[in-house]
Amino acid sequence: MKLLFEKSIQGRSGKYLSECDVPMLDLPSGLERETPPGLPELAETDVSRHYSALESRTFGINDGFYPLGSCTMKYNPKINEKVSSLPGFTGLHPLQPVDSVQGMLEALYLADTYLAQITGMDKMTLQPAAGAHGEFAGLLLFKKYHEERGDTARTKVIVPDSAHGTNPATASMCGMSVVKLPSGGDGCIDMEKLRAVVGPDTAGIMLTNPNTLGIFESNILEITKIVHEAGGLCYYDGANLNAIAGVMRPGDMGFDCIHLNLHKTFSTPHGGGGPGSGAVGCKDFLIKYLPGPQINKAGETYRFEASPQSFGNLLAFYGNALTVLRALAFIMAYGKDGLPRMSQHAVLNANYLKHRLSERFRIFNRGLCMHEFVISMEREAKEHGVAAIDMAKSFLDNGMMAPTMYFPLIVKEALMVEPTETEGKETLDNVADIYIRLYDEAMANPEAAKLFPRNTVIGRPDEVEAARNPRVRYK
Ligand SMILES: *Cc1c(COP(=O)(O)O)cnc(C)c1O
Repeated sequence: MKLLFEKSIQGRSGKYLSECDVPMLDLPSGLERETPPGLPELAETDVSRHYSALESRTFGINDGFYPLGSCTMKYNPKINEKVSSLPGFTGLHPLQPVDSVQGMLEALYLADTYLAQITGMDKMTLQPAAGAHGEFAGLLLFKKYHEERGDTARTKVIVPDSAHGTNPATASMCGMSVVKLPSGGDGCIDMEKLRAVVGPDTAGIMLTNPNTLGIFESNILEITKIVHEAGGLCYYDGANLNAIAGVMRPGDMGFDCIHLNLHKTFSTPHGGGGPGSGAVGCKDFLIKYLPGPQINKAGETYRFEASPQSFGNLLAFYGNALTVLRALAFIMAYGKDGLPRMSQHAVLNANYLKHRLSERFRIFNRGLCMHEFVISMEREAKEHGVAAIDMAKSFLDNGMMAPTMYFPLIVKEALMVEPTETEGKETLDNVADIYIRLYDEAMANPEAAKLFPRNTVIGRPDEVEAARNPRVRYK
């Protein structure tokens, strides 16, 4: 496909602007270009066809089943785009006088209040722009807490090997060292090993729950107790709250801090790098360290308050406010009774599909899973030469996105499947039929399985090269 620059035809244009009817001013000398900018010259139809062609080459939740485990596209109601693009919100300037932005502050304050209620925390910050950014905020809270108490030997963060990959990366970014905790055979934390690693150097634990195997930690209360008794704090990675929202609260399980990915669980479509929101909630004793300014309510007015003990700012102003507005609309539309139903559907869908697929596939999760489950293609890869990537690529030819591949790292040849909570039974049955048919075809003819996908624009790119040396500039 040619780029717009390659399609450019000299002199062609699609501009509608009428002649300028105000006096023209000359730019101060030295500011003018010497040569015109190298913009493509095209008519409107050339441009709109170009973008439609690009759109038809991509795949999104509007095209079909999108089971990208851990980071799946959850339900993104289209109406929330409308809510977040109301001119009363989008036309604001962050430096406007506070009395002229009371509506926006009320909305952010409400979102803060609801998210705190949902997670069992006392206060949120809406400043972090992504999940990993929220983790960073959380660990800076922990660090500040220990420092203020003069407890400076606490430099180690315990991270189970079933955690999301951003957890250990965040701990390192904060200058802490990571203590990796191997999981037991059931995919949960090995309690003896946990007891053995906590001590006076423990800053805290970071727990992804349900973990990346789709398993809810069975000893959750015991885990937070052990860490607290050792003087550490407990961090809950709540990026994917869609298994538990409205059903149970991390704050009640003993966690001191949590982040949510509003751009996963609470309605902002994600992908392509943003904008997102990694809202962070914490318990009372950590509020004073939160990044500022905080939005607080005094009587009927909302205002900004900065805490002198805050660890500083993570982003300009108040975070990606429009993402927070989508989350607020989502929470208010679902309501107190709707949120638990959302979570129940996420878990029901995952268990239904898991059950159907267990006719053929070996699934790591024994018993019930939460919102996702993990298939292992280890045996098929060893005995038949059909690897996880071969299966995943075959799905692309069949009108659906592939599951997350080769993650979590503790399962060999992993395919991590998370059906969106809003998928109906017909879709799940259809998906299961296709998975099983493709499995049988691949096992009957492993050589042919290496050739998938056949119908996509790009087949099997060198993914390592593409990630390590992306070429994003046109020369
Ligand atoms: C997606 C995800 C993150 C990271 O979120 P980003 O917005 O991509 O930084 C962290 N933890 C879990 C469990 C996730 O699924």
